[in-house]
Amino acid sequence: MVSGAGRRGDGNVPYDQRAFAGGCFGMRVSTGRVVESDGRMFNVTVQGLGIGRQRRAERTLVVSYSQLQSLVQTLARQGGRMTAMIPSEAAPAVTGSSDSPASIGAGADPAPQSAPSKPAPVSSSHAAVPVNLYKPKNPFVGTVTENYSLLAEGAIGRVNHITFDLAGGDPQLHYVEGQSIGIIPDGEDANGKSHKLRLYSIASTRHGDNLADHTVSLCVRQLQYEKDGETINGVCSTFLCDIEPGSKVKITGPVGKEMLLPDDEEANVIMLATGTGIAPMRTYLRRMFEPTEREKNGWHFRGKAWLFMGSPTTANLLYDNDFNHYQAEFPDNFRYTKAISREQQNPSGGRMYIQDRVSEHSEEIFSWIEDPKTHVYMCGLRGMEPGIDEAMTAAAAAKGLNWAELRPQLKKAERWHVETY
Ligand SMILES: Cc1cc2nc3c(=O)[nH]c(=O)nc-3n(C[C@H](O)[C@H](O)[C@H](O)COP(=O)(O)OP(=O)(O)OC[C@H]3O[C@@H](n4cnc5c(N)ncnc54)[C@H](O)[C@@H]3O)c2cc1C
Repeated sequence: MVSGAGRRGDGNVPYDQRAFAGGCFGMRVSTGRVVESDGRMFNVTVQGLGIGRQRRAERTLVVSYSQLQSLVQTLARQGGRMTAMIPSEAAPAVTGSSDSPASIGAGADPAPQSAPSKPAPVSSSHAAVPVNLYKPKNPFVGTVTENYSLLAEGAIGRVNHITFDLAGGDPQLHYVEGQSIGIIPDGEDANGKSHKLRLYSIASTRHGDNLADHTVSLCVRQLQYEKDGETINGVCSTFLCDIEPGSKVKITGPVGKEMLLPDDEEANVIMLATGTGIAPMRTYLRRMFEPTEREKNGWHFRGKAWLFMGSPTTANLLYDNDFNHYQAEFPDNFRYTKAISREQQNPSGGRMYIQDRVSEHSEEIFSWIEDPKTHVYMCGLRGMEPGIDEAMTAAAAAKGLNWAELRPQLKKAERWHVETY
């Protein structure tokens, strides 16, 4: 049995125990601090909690009275069990903790002394997330305010940043970072029926690019392919890339709870994006690093964020200047790693894809993942998934872990988020 010496807040809690404690608690971390009402501490021995080898081990945690209930709920959710519970002689040295399950793990690391006092953070807890405020039968009609290319000279294809004014809706169409909206393009299909909606990941934060709280932006690549010697343009993506400011557009949603950001200001976030899969990542990074967003949300990200971006050419990189700027301004909190397939070579001399970058940094990626505060987000074309899976399988194997087992556990712990299309 692994014994759990050490008191919450005294810095003696072994790393593996902290990882174990938080590893199962995933996202929706409340950062609200409440004063502990009961000073009792308990040594609780549990089985079947955490991920990988942690899950098979029996471990002892030191938890406060107020954290017990959360632990019981988490055990029930994960199918683990409590084998012993004895009062601990160690009394808590500090007051002020969170009642949330996640904070049991987070509680092992006291918040930095420099943590600013702030209003309650805007919560993204699943229940509070808006969905389907507007449905296809009764869409909101928004107005295009801008539509411009995101690509530099020499890039391949067309990718535009398009913003819609959402003012005046009843209800107001609002959303949070990580959600998508539907667009119903004008016109009719081959059967004379209205076109069906297409989903697009939202690329702006809930406040919109202008922080006015009533706009939404998208990042849209025009679909083009060859068929029988003819170039076919995708219906909706071409409609959007061609649309003029002032035009009216039918909008549905918002939808999606898969890609929500954790509320924890000290979370670590690994982002794997290709092409327009950058849209949700842009919202996270703006929320984390734009001073106006930080101020407006009272949410001051202090964790680590690492963006892996896959692109065919440098000219095709999206929002690259913003991300370079964040890296310069927040070097301790943000890393930005690019895989430019047609310009860079992987170690075998082939094209450098995002999975090659994942393999290159697998040791570090896995040490991040071992930290229960780490969440991984993947977004882009569906074709990126097998390559990432392969890279993660090899990286896990190098650590004696089985990725096929680990991934569902991370998913269940709401720390592995995928949206591919
Ligand atoms: C959750 C989600 C989020 C999304 N986010 C974004 C986003 O942020 N940005 C973005 O640009 N897109 C995004 N998409 C994709 C988007 O919804 C549309 O699918 C895309 O824009 C193409 O729609 P379209 O109307 O232009 O193409 P359509 O006219 O609908 O054509 C698509 C169809 O063309 C056919 N086709 C496509 N390629 C070929 C080919 N090479 N050869 C033969 N046939 C082919 C297929 O039958 C395909 O179904 C997202 C999708 C989902 C599900």
